[in-house]
Amino acid sequence: MSRFLNAEYKQLQAYTPGEQPHNKKLIKLNTNENPYEPSPTVSQAISEAEITQFRLYPDPDATQLLTEIAAYYNVEPGQVMVGNGSDEILAFCFMIFQGSGKKVYYPSPSYGFYPVYGDVFQAKRNPIPLTEDFTICIEDYKNLDGTIIIANPNAPTGIALEPQEIEEILLANQSNLVIIDEAYIDFGAKSCVPFVQKYDNLLVVQTFSKSRSLAGARVGFAIGSKPVIADLNKIKFSFNPYNINRLSILAASAAMKDRDYFRETCRKIVNTRQRLVKQMKAMKFHILPSKANFLFVRHDNISGKHYFERLRENNILVRHFDRQPTSDFVRITIGKDEEMDALLEATARILGEMEDRR
Ligand SMILES: *Cc1c(COP(=O)(O)O)cnc(C)c1O
Repeated sequence: MSRFLNAEYKQLQAYTPGEQPHNKKLIKLNTNENPYEPSPTVSQAISEAEITQFRLYPDPDATQLLTEIAAYYNVEPGQVMVGNGSDEILAFCFMIFQGSGKKVYYPSPSYGFYPVYGDVFQAKRNPIPLTEDFTICIEDYKNLDGTIIIANPNAPTGIALEPQEIEEILLANQSNLVIIDEAYIDFGAKSCVPFVQKYDNLLVVQTFSKSRSLAGARVGFAIGSKPVIADLNKIKFSFNPYNINRLSILAASAAMKDRDYFRETCRKIVNTRQRLVKQMKAMKFHILPSKANFLFVRHDNISGKHYFERLRENNILVRHFDRQPTSDFVRITIGKDEEMDALLEATARILGEMEDRR
């Protein structure tokens, strides 16, 4: 730490991203990336000619991308804004809707960035614990006095709320902004986007990082009422108007347009998830009911930490959160079928060794 850092950031605990290993041999199941390549239309969109255009700034409105997103969700382009990853949009939300002493409510555990942004922008953080079975109790979210942010499906549990449950929260918080982070919505849960036509206190945030295979392009988007979107654009234009680079605008627009490829890859991931659940249950794992592209699992015979470490020795990288109440679990991203076969094989071996030692 230098002597120049502002006092309010001296205690700040930064977000810890999952490891991005340089070892290419590792099977990477730790950061919920999509195992399938982006749509083939993405590489067609990024032609040599487009690279020569790199000397020019990108369209600050990202009009082409807004148009594709609006068409997909059947909303007006004025109800959509785009960010450099949905993380940037979430940061903007904390900056303008709940910073400086205003209250923010979110489930705990949930996405690790919510408390970090709360601290960066000096909000009053109010984490609401999950129930004992790791679900969100919607009664805990009624009649609050601050902004609410809920990941649906939640992370790292994968458990989803029904749209009607979120509607109850919206109705019971008409003076509060309710942000629904739908990073994993395309793997089997139902989106709340249709509610934006009815409730001006709803903002839905999504990303191209998971279901559209573009984590490296850094593109996220938000859909909400026009005034809320205008507020977000005001802060974007006061911070970084060119927040989406030229190639990412092209890549994300192409990915949004190719609905068949999107549906097909999501379907494959859901099928692989169902198969993995069945096979891990047969090995006596406890598995939370996931609607996401990952499973949160634990086993009575091995600690989360040990399972994580033993998998790593077998060149398989998963995620372990070494704090309560999640330290018994590991989070496993759904990969390709052959990657899941390698995981199952290593797991059987590891559990077998545990048996032998007893
Ligand atoms: C991955 C993830 C994000 C961030 O996505 P980016 O668009 O890559 O910034 C946001 N929220 C949750 C819950 C996530 O898991």
